[in-house]
Amino acid sequence: MKIEEHASLTALNTFGLHPNARVLAEFDNKDELRALLHRYSGERFLTVGEGSNLLFLRDFDGVVLHSRMCRARALKETKDEVWIEAESGLRLDDLIQQLADMDLRGLENLSHIPGTVGASAVQNVGAYGVEAKDVIETVRAIAVQTGEEVTFTNADCCFAYRDSRFKNDWKDQYVITAVTFRLKKEGGLRLDYGGLGNAFEGRELSQLTPLEVREKVIEIRRRKLPEVGEFGSAGSFFKNPVISPTCFEALQTQYPAMPHFDTSDGVKVPAAWLIEQCGLKGCQHGGARVWDKQPLVIVNAGNASAEDIRLLAEKVMKDVSGRFGITLSPEVNYIE
Ligand SMILES: Cc1cc2nc3c(=O)[nH]c(=O)nc-3n(C[C@H](O)[C@H](O)[C@H](O)COP(=O)(O)OP(=O)(O)OC[C@H]3O[C@@H](n4cnc5c(N)ncnc54)[C@H](O)[C@@H]3O)c2cc1C
Repeated sequence: MKIEEHASLTALNTFGLHPNARVLAEFDNKDELRALLHRYSGERFLTVGEGSNLLFLRDFDGVVLHSRMCRARALKETKDEVWIEAESGLRLDDLIQQLADMDLRGLENLSHIPGTVGASAVQNVGAYGVEAKDVIETVRAIAVQTGEEVTFTNADCCFAYRDSRFKNDWKDQYVITAVTFRLKKEGGLRLDYGGLGNAFEGRELSQLTPLEVREKVIEIRRRKLPEVGEFGSAGSFFKNPVISPTCFEALQTQYPAMPHFDTSDGVKVPAAWLIEQCGLKGCQHGGARVWDKQPLVIVNAGNASAEDIRLLAEKVMKDVSGRFGITLSPEVNYIE
């Protein structure tokens, strides 16, 4: 366990901002976590993984909890599947590398997404047609109020697009300690989304390994997204909006080229396209800039303040709403 007062959170946010926490408490096991919850009972808690989806608007006046529990183990195995339990502080990408080395399938499309295993369940991270919820079996957590351990099923978590109960009615009520993923030994690769399959020209797709898919995903992502450590960002700043079919039809007559995907909730429109159409690629406010290669991303182009980032995000939302009548919502968690 490590407890630091007036601690810097520079290493715990990928925007390259420099907020402080009144207390930063790192724990290595569940008993230490329970002891921290007891010691600081009544305080405001925030659990932070790598801070790759957080925008600290100011210093955090409370206790930041950070999991250093990083093990993974196989829980059970059948002829076709393996259940792997990974602790919350393990980097998701390190887990995916381990799984690919074992030829276990299901998470490879999520390669190179920054962040921890714990947050992958909070955020229901997704990329290339796969979401964490597709392979999450259970989520184990400690209740902040009581210290009691609970195990949630996939259904309990109410996963949705970049969403789960941990972001809504359970917000800040649980600290996730481990996630169990159900992985396939054969088949199971998803190559039909975002041209991923096309990137393997000349290859028999059924022969691909999760390691090859992982390497391709990393190659593609490196071309499109800012690398953590090079430019501060939190990945996609906005969610792709889902609008009603009626609203989409009206917009389509005006913008026939508008890309779209039908979903069970309505029509999903790529926010990046909307932002680009508003001429916002490369738009800068103070040190914050809309990333030229992927306008869904806002980067810290040098010495940006949280306010620069917030105001630029507001401008993007205002311009998109003004032109298309569509309200963008941030994917990034604002921390007041
Ligand atoms: C360059 C870049 C690319 C990205 N690409 C993608 C992408 O393709 N797809 C995608 O979905 N996301 C993407 N992201 C966003 C980010 O990687 C994910 O949201 C990730 O899950 C955040 O993990 P984290 O550990 O950094 O969580 P944090 O940012 O620290 O926290 C995120 C949320 O989870 C909560 N939390 C964290 N750990 C725990 C825990 N143990 N228990 C309870 N609550 C917890 C926090 O309180 C917060 O609400 C990208 C980010 C960057 C910087």
